[in-house]
Amino acid sequence: MKKSRYRGRLAPSPTGFLHPGHLSTFLMAARRSRENDGTLILRMEDLDRARCKKEYDDAALEDLSHFLTWDEGPDLGGPFQPYRQSQRFSENIYLEFWRRLRDGGWIYPCNYTRREIRARQSELNLKAGPTGEIPFPVQLRSDPAQSRDFDRPGRQAFRFRIPSEKVAFLDHYLGSLEYDAGKEFGDFLIWSVEGYPSYEFAVVVDDALMGITEVVRGQDLLLSTARQILIYRALQLSIPEFFHCPLLKDAKGERLAKRKGSATIRSLLQNGWSVHRISESCMADSPDPDLIQAISKGV
Ligand code: GLU
Repeated sequence: MKKSRYRGRLAPSPTGFLHPGHLSTFLMAARRSRENDGTLILRMEDLDRARCKKEYDDAALEDLSHFLTWDEGPDLGGPFQPYRQSQRFSENIYLEFWRRLRDGGWIYPCNYTRREIRARQSELNLKAGPTGEIPFPVQLRSDPAQSRDFDRPGRQAFRFRIPSEKVAFLDHYLGSLEYDAGKEFGDFLIWSVEGYPSYEFAVVVDDALMGITEVVRGQDLLLSTARQILIYRALQLSIPEFFHCPLLKDAKGERLAKRKGSATIRSLLQNGWSVHRISESCMADSPDPDLIQAISKGV
């Protein structure tokens, strides 16, 4: 079948075994791509060297292959190789875009940690944003001209200096959305002190270079999308469309997380759940009580 220009992506992070929350987002991404006669790529987001493991990378490809297919990826290759962020990092792909941000005066070196900012909360009269995080205080900004002293970021952290502007976009699931940069979030990391691009930065570079036309992700990442739109604007890259799916919740109404010991796709399969039943439950409009129970018990 002839493909349209639609390009979607699955972007697992191999920091643990995938759980049904991830799967429900990936199944939605696959459905959107199929409905649009599109091409679906799989990109492994393995930049966090402390948390990513080869075991989880292998498991993600294997677990997902039971449920869906993709057209390009680390296992299949494709025209936008490599499809692992760690390899893209080795090829200096992010460095080039870091330099563009530096030259455009968008980033500044910054040594403040989250803990230091929290410690100065009352002194600087800082209020937490909607997620409970304190937006980076403007009083602690440095001059972006300082980044010109750096030829490459190395192990120096850099922050993006957000312009005070509204970020509006049309979400294909939620409708029109608007975020207020400076109020709902502040200057954010582009490069970490560990020597790697941040998630926000790497994902923008990769989605742009891989020609992604629609990003399907969970609603927990809405503020990230707003931050990323500012990076697209700064780099003058074309902005994809967005579709933010609802999150699967456990029996207590809390979102699933790998660290909370919730059931993984593997554990469900090992406990006799069929691929068909897991898919149906993950895509159901209202939560399947059996799945929620299995997830909560950590089956
Ligand atoms: N690797 C990210 C995650 O697993 C992807 C998020 C995104 O869709 O950009 O949360």
